[in-house]
Amino acid sequence: MEKFQESMYKLIVETSTKLPKDVRRAIARAKAKENAGTRAAMALTTIAGNIKMADENVSPICQDTGLPTFKIKVPVGVNQIKMKEAIRNAIAQATKDGKLRPNSVDSLTGENSGDNLGDGVPVIKFEQWENDYIDVRLILKGGGCENKNIQYSLPCELEGLGRAGRDLDGIRKCILHAVYQAQGQGCSAGFIGVGIGGDRSSGYDLAKEQLFRSVDDVNPNEELRQLEEYIMENANKLGIGTMGFGGETTLLGCKIGVMHRIPASFFVSVAYNCWAFRRLGVKVDPTTGDIIEWLYQEGEDVDFAKELEKTEEKASVNIGETREFVLEAPITEEQIRQLKVGDVVRINGMIYTGRDAIHKHLMDHDSPVDLNGQIIYHCGPVMLKDEDGKWHVKAAGPTTSIREEPYQGEIMKKFGIRAVIGKGGMGAKTLAALKEHGGVYLNAIGGAAQYYADCIKSVEGVDFLEFGIPEAMWHLRVENFTAVVTMDSHGNSLHEDVEKSSLEKLAQFKEPVFK
Ligand code: SF4
Repeated sequence: MEKFQESMYKLIVETSTKLPKDVRRAIARAKAKENAGTRAAMALTTIAGNIKMADENVSPICQDTGLPTFKIKVPVGVNQIKMKEAIRNAIAQATKDGKLRPNSVDSLTGENSGDNLGDGVPVIKFEQWENDYIDVRLILKGGGCENKNIQYSLPCELEGLGRAGRDLDGIRKCILHAVYQAQGQGCSAGFIGVGIGGDRSSGYDLAKEQLFRSVDDVNPNEELRQLEEYIMENANKLGIGTMGFGGETTLLGCKIGVMHRIPASFFVSVAYNCWAFRRLGVKVDPTTGDIIEWLYQEGEDVDFAKELEKTEEKASVNIGETREFVLEAPITEEQIRQLKVGDVVRINGMIYTGRDAIHKHLMDHDSPVDLNGQIIYHCGPVMLKDEDGKWHVKAAGPTTSIREEPYQGEIMKKFGIRAVIGKGGMGAKTLAALKEHGGVYLNAIGGAAQYYADCIKSVEGVDFLEFGIPEAMWHLRVENFTAVVTMDSHGNSLHEDVEKSSLEKLAQFKEPVFK
């Protein structure tokens, strides 16, 4: 079992730090399609640079470890209890080594277990088979994209698409709607797995199972093959684009599976996965525990270091005609009022992280630091403490901002905060507060955890460590930290604009296609 634990550790580290070849090719294809100088091209260049840095540093591609899920097929007679124990040990070790962020919290108290273990975490699902080797597959699926999963019960009425009936055409409408409702919030461009049939839980299981298929495979079911092709072609016409900035590529892959159902129920379940599609697999020798073969190795690999060199791009930003500003806190209201949606800002100096626990806390408590004119970063970083007690940032991309919608506007006004950085945008309440108070929302590139970790030059302090590492308030000194203004102090929101235009485009798919 010691060897098996070692093999699982290798699988976890490789999955967290290196995207598989099929995913890399899909991202490279998307990058090639975007015109230079657009926001989407800038986002994809940052993503490419981030993948390269994760490769080189053997560091997490994204700071959000997500929910580690193992799917394992074992020959008859293999001890699953011991395997489970070895996997849990490997997860705890990878967390200790900074390859995974401590991400498992008590659902009622919110307490972080600190080692990624907990009731039901990690998810480990076994199945027996007749082969003489063990097949282990792992997916690390982050919260931003998990929260965009959706399940439809047919028949139903869909915004922009009208009635979806209990047939292939109804399924088609559900899938298009699933891509539309995700907007950029799941760190698009994304991959979707679709499960047709089953019940509410087995339907989602089937949808997630599709995410283990290779991006390039061909569905053996002719009807589903056609549907997958149709979705790939047409979902990309919605214009949501990378990070929801608008653009050519919204969807990088679509895989559909089907199972039986009971006559009374007809579920279509959609599992959405971000571009940081971390799933890998190995074949393991059941007698020695050694890895015999790595899975998902077919086809050409993309070396993003060479890609970036070849196109003479930098792993930062190439923004063509876009206006650029440099911000350093404390920021004045006048500086903020100059900024407009679409501007790119580069931040130097101090920023402070704040996620759900801190936002809730600040509603009725004082801040431990003076936040007047300061910048809050929605981020739960991966941090490591060295032997001298010094903290180091291992990964630090933005988290989904909309969770802070109930608090954000009030907190900005209460403490005089001028800018908030996150991903996916925020709602009407925050937009109104930005206008009234003179604030701005900056969209960082979701998942670009290595890119942003590199911008952080020092960790100058931490508060609320008792909330857990991801939820603590980290005081970070940054240099050249780049983000896009997507909500300004004049009442404009790029997120609202893209949502509106993509809804109009969705309506073109109202008429039946599959009889
Ligand atoms: S890329 Fe975005 S959605 Fe995916 S795990 Fe990272 S933060 Fe979450």
